Amino acid sequence: MKHIAIIGSGPAGCYLADQLLRVIPDSSIDIVEQLPVPFGLIRYGVAPDHQSTTAVARLFDRTLGRDRVSFFGNVHVGRDVKLDELLELYDAVVLATGAPKDRKLGIAGEDLAGVIGSGAFVGWYNGYPQRPEPPVSNVRSAVVIGNGNVASDVARILAKGPEELAGSDLPRQVRAWLSAQPLETIHLVGRRGAADAKFTDHEIEELGTLQRARPIVDPDDLTGDSPLVNTLRTFAHAPHRDTPVTIHFHFNLTPAEFLGDASLRAVRFRSSDGKTVEIPAQLAITCIGYEAVACCSASPVNGCFAHEEAKVGDRLFVVGWAKRGPSGTIPTNRAEAQQVAQKIVQEIQDANRPGGTGLRELLERRGVGPIDYAGWRRIDDAELAAACAEHCREKLLNTDEMLETARAGHPKPV
Ligand code: NAP
Repeated sequence: MKHIAIIGSGPAGCYLADQLLRVIPDSSIDIVEQLPVPFGLIRYGVAPDHQSTTAVARLFDRTLGRDRVSFFGNVHVGRDVKLDELLELYDAVVLATGAPKDRKLGIAGEDLAGVIGSGAFVGWYNGYPQRPEPPVSNVRSAVVIGNGNVASDVARILAKGPEELAGSDLPRQVRAWLSAQPLETIHLVGRRGAADAKFTDHEIEELGTLQRARPIVDPDDLTGDSPLVNTLRTFAHAPHRDTPVTIHFHFNLTPAEFLGDASLRAVRFRSSDGKTVEIPAQLAITCIGYEAVACCSASPVNGCFAHEEAKVGDRLFVVGWAKRGPSGTIPTNRAEAQQVAQKIVQEIQDANRPGGTGLRELLERRGVGPIDYAGWRRIDDAELAAACAEHCREKLLNTDEMLETARAGHPKPV
């Protein structure tokens, strides 16, 4: 048997496990995950009102339940087991650890209360364990910095009213915080022109269909006729509609400074013609990308792990955002997993290593109790059972509750 450990159970790790099962029939695959629950970005990154995108979790769930796959949830590589120890125990180890750290703008005022990176904000509204809510209240104006799909997700979640969020798995506490804000204006700000924005046209079109909010675009900002620019042009020429919230698109504004004393008061930008523009705001979300973080002795360079055809070092591989940086959609990971699996097939040798048996023994000696697939299923059942009529799931929001639910075997309402 060839033993492979994948660190991280997000889309990159799960697609890779699925591929490895197909291409290495005599393989056993262990997925090691720091949280008690699997699926990473699918659970904590994809917009909670886009449940069709999260449906891929059903496929990953089937992979996790396969005979030759074991889930080791609640095992933190670095704290509970070292990367070198995994390399002793397994024939190959794969970093599928994503890019969990928010990139910084590096401008003054970035530490003010009310300035939040998209990873922290999206994690919070998706119920990532122990993520605090934004430390501001009475938000009337929000600035969303960046012109990519994360920025449009964030703007949409802020813009939607409670009825429009029905059907999502937005946690109850998040729904309460959002409803409590007297939000009037969302500013979506890009440093380049509309033609260079990274939004997907389809995502932006959705902003024109909202009930509580309407997009506002200056037609003079638009050149070219890409599908995205044409959608923005439709917004610019749409008949006036009265809505409580407006979403203003701004282009060619580079962030210069966050202004305020303890909390954010405004964001200062520099325009392409050298002028200064100040947008008042109580909340600013920077949606400007993410970086990978070190895994023991393996350290990223410029936000991701250096590799040659997915190989980082002897028997150590990388996949997903940890490999290529924060780009692409969920299916991008599927195509990449096929390539990385082929590379592992070429390199892997059966060296009689103990694999999961050895990992279980080591964790037991250290008093670490991993959560297995059955434990995850109990958490899943409890979350589905706790859902109210308007929402499809009520996530457990702290790891102690998750562990208790997974271990007790008794579904526990939130
Ligand atoms: P992204 O698409 O790379 O967008 C990042 C944005 O941040 C860009 O507009 C970029 O501007 C801007 N930016 C970067 N550094 C900046 C700086 N110093 N100052 C001002 N602006 C700065 O990344 P993302 O939105 O985080 O999304 C990550 C990946 O996930 C993307 O591939 C995205 O398509 C995908 N995703 C997909 C969906 C979906 O399919 N529904 C949803 C969410 C995310 P420049 O272009 O000028 O660099």
